Amino acid sequence: MQITRIQSHVLRCDMPETLGYSQQFYSQRTCHLVEVSTSEGLTGWGECFGPGNVARANARIVEDVIAPMMVGERALDRDRLWHRAYNLLRDHGQKGMPIQALSGIDIALWDVAGQAAGLPLCDLIGGRHRDAVGVYGYGMMLRPDMDAAAMADQFADEAAAIAGAGFAAVKMKVGLGVRDDVRLATAVADAVDVPFMVDANHAYDVNDALEVGRALDDLGAYWFEEPVAPEDRDGYATLRRSLRTRIAGGEAEFTRWGWRDLIASGGLSIAQPEVCALGGVSEYLRVLALCHAHHLPVVNHVWGGAVAVACNLHLSASMPPLPGGLHPRQPWLEFDTTENRFRDDLLEAPLDIQGQVARTGTAAVPDGPGLGVAPDREFIAAHLWE
Ligand SMILES: [Mg+2]
Repeated sequence: MQITRIQSHVLRCDMPETLGYSQQFYSQRTCHLVEVSTSEGLTGWGECFGPGNVARANARIVEDVIAPMMVGERALDRDRLWHRAYNLLRDHGQKGMPIQALSGIDIALWDVAGQAAGLPLCDLIGGRHRDAVGVYGYGMMLRPDMDAAAMADQFADEAAAIAGAGFAAVKMKVGLGVRDDVRLATAVADAVDVPFMVDANHAYDVNDALEVGRALDDLGAYWFEEPVAPEDRDGYATLRRSLRTRIAGGEAEFTRWGWRDLIASGGLSIAQPEVCALGGVSEYLRVLALCHAHHLPVVNHVWGGAVAVACNLHLSASMPPLPGGLHPRQPWLEFDTTENRFRDDLLEAPLDIQGQVARTGTAAVPDGPGLGVAPDREFIAAHLWE
């Protein structure tokens, strides 16, 4: 079975509301799907991390740079093809967009492999430690037209609604500055009984992060995500040593080599690998092994559309509990509770995560072989960013 074509589909739509995190506001949503066609008629789907114009540029890397390395090659040779592509890309980017582009192709090749074997991805990886995964809900995004007091009220209402909808925990954004961010976190802490997490998207220097972090210690936050710039490894380590709240991060790290150095710097309490960015399923499994070799807990970073969510359901199902036991802490699926039609309406048979969480507090792994998802081609055509 040969690879006959590798194609990117970048989708775009307007959002019902402008939302933001500490770095920017946005009012359009994009989704970068990768489709791998084969000589046996099997079609694999993948997704690349990267919004807006980054998705458009990644699509060019997929189709103009990596596809010519792989078309005509054996479709099941995903590990060989990964290393060949990485080797040829190495001089042009060991992190960032080339690896994001490679990620979507690798995920699609695993989808093909699962279909060829007649096995869901989680069973192809080695079996499922759980059939369904607990889900935490993030929301509480920044709003461009609210002051801190109004946003604190908004965040409290939203956090209560997410917890009330059955999610195991809630995650909020910050980024207004130390004083207002503590006000937002206090509002969320007061509004829910479930664990809450705070995501700064690297808004702070280490001094401000310490100040916010001490407040989060008092509020009982479960984790403090990307408090400082990902390059500030010393800052991460200082925060981890100084705070009781767990330090989470890693969504902006790539490949086993990047993760080796990130883990060695000792600044993480929780690792958040992003399979659609760090190199795909092939590289995710190596990063997971590295994390486990250091007894570092893993909660996957999840961003994007239904293909990314489905992939992460399989990875979360096949993730071994570490160290294990009768009642091990189970991995969570990260879920964006804001409107996202590329997740909710893309598939012929939607995952309906919100409905599943409302009924059972968990999300089930898709049944079919490979990722077990079939994107609706009419939906893709209707949302294509030409
Ligand atoms: Mg984050």
